[in-house]
Amino acid sequence: MASAFGHVAVAYALGKTIQPPSLRTKRFWWLTAACCVLPDADVIGLFLGIPYEHVLGHRGLTHSLLFAGIIGILLPRMAVPDLVFGSRTYGMLVLFFFGVTMSHGILDAMTDGGLGIAFFAPFDSARYFFPWRPITVSPIGISSFFSTWGLGVLWSELLWIGIPVGLWLGALRVNAWIKWTNKHGNRPE
Ligand SMILES: [Zn+2]
Repeated sequence: MASAFGHVAVAYALGKTIQPPSLRTKRFWWLTAACCVLPDADVIGLFLGIPYEHVLGHRGLTHSLLFAGIIGILLPRMAVPDLVFGSRTYGMLVLFFFGVTMSHGILDAMTDGGLGIAFFAPFDSARYFFPWRPITVSPIGISSFFSTWGLGVLWSELLWIGIPVGLWLGALRVNAWIKWTNKHGNRPE
């Protein structure tokens, strides 16, 4: 995996994109944070003796498009309880939670270690990486994270996740500012 910091940073940037801001309740943010790290619940399998390369192993089924799709369908009503099923907002949130869950596997596929991601599980058990893998893979377990390896992970994530996320958040701010000036005809103090 990329580290939990990397996954959460991307989920935060995606979450900030959701409009209107009133949708972004505490509940929304908790679920957003949960689904961006949820795929790594599969590390439990490593402790239960399920081999890494198994479809239920690490970076297997829980990192797949199908899994993200199921999460995408289940979460909108949990995030916004009075959401009308089939409404435009519902559809947007399905895509959003699918995207946040999938962002996990996408980041993992850009890491330089471990096995690839079973994007098409359970239909195809092949593991995939992207051709470009600049992110240093994060160790499994807390103790090995507090090491020079962990520092290397944070550095590579600052560069390859932190900067794009910062730029994206900056762009959202500029966009909000432009909208504000268009509406009010002058600039906020
Ligand atoms: Zn992962």
